[in-house]
Amino acid sequence: MPIQTNIFAIILMLRLSFIDIQILHPISILNTTDSILLNVLRLDKINEVVSGNKWFKLQYYLQDAVKNNINTIATFGGAYSNHIAATAFACKEYNLKCVGIIRGDESQTSHTLKFAKECGMQLIFISRENFRNKDAVKEKYKTNNWYWINEGGYGIMGSQGAASIMQYIPQNTTHIIAAIGTGTTFAGLIKAALPHQKIIGINILKGNTSINNEINNLLTEEEQQKSFEIINQYHFGGYAKHPKELIEFMKQLWIENNLPTDIVYTSKMMFATLDLISKKYFPAESKIVAIHSGGLQGNFSLPPNTLPF
Ligand SMILES: *Cc1c(COP(=O)(O)O)cnc(C)c1O
Repeated sequence: MPIQTNIFAIILMLRLSFIDIQILHPISILNTTDSILLNVLRLDKINEVVSGNKWFKLQYYLQDAVKNNINTIATFGGAYSNHIAATAFACKEYNLKCVGIIRGDESQTSHTLKFAKECGMQLIFISRENFRNKDAVKEKYKTNNWYWINEGGYGIMGSQGAASIMQYIPQNTTHIIAAIGTGTTFAGLIKAALPHQKIIGINILKGNTSINNEINNLLTEEEQQKSFEIINQYHFGGYAKHPKELIEFMKQLWIENNLPTDIVYTSKMMFATLDLISKKYFPAESKIVAIHSGGLQGNFSLPPNTLPF
């Protein structure tokens, strides 16, 4: 990245400096004799409304749009997309217009979409079928001169933005764990990892065999040689699937550690982390940071009072 006044990073840092609560949240680990330390990086605390990794992923795209004199951001997402909420809010904050291409029909009125609309996002609903062909959608609106951001913020600039998450992680950390959706955040962490650090990604999608390629496409050949692993066993049935066992785990995590998680990403990542610790995946004395990537939008799809937070 060229050295430039990174206004979004500065704003983020200011926000972070006003947080008086610890951004590293220690988690008590029972039944281990390996003196393993586990902290959760609470990116969910960076902003009350829109939390987590989506901010980091958006920063360079928004700068790039401004640099190219484009004043409208357009992107894709579903009715409960954290990325849609974050894009809408970020554009409002930075006086950019924005358009959300939403999968499904207009009858859905999710909390997320209401919020996006209140932020000023123009919503365009398209069928699931048409949603799959993103190039055709872009072609349709070609004359509008919009700045397109991929679904979920996937892309090299997104991962470069996510790399800046590393500045909040102590250097003596040995293992960093994050949930994988598009893999953009994971790729960013790999970019920023120090030689003694291993990055572990918990894939929350089931049977997504192209993920390795999609991640490699965001990395240079040199970065592909760094220490990382993608773990596929913790999807709990697939994207946003939340069996009772997972909901029970989320309640327990809240009661014992005061840690709120979401059904799509962070609950599965935390479950995996604790399960891997109990299965001795980590060497003794490991210092682990699990990234709470924020985004509690998925929980709004649950019936009221399912969760205590
Ligand atoms: C979007 C999201 C992710 C996935 O991030 P990717 O960069 O797409 O892999 C993880 N956690 C939360 C809370 C998210 O909203």
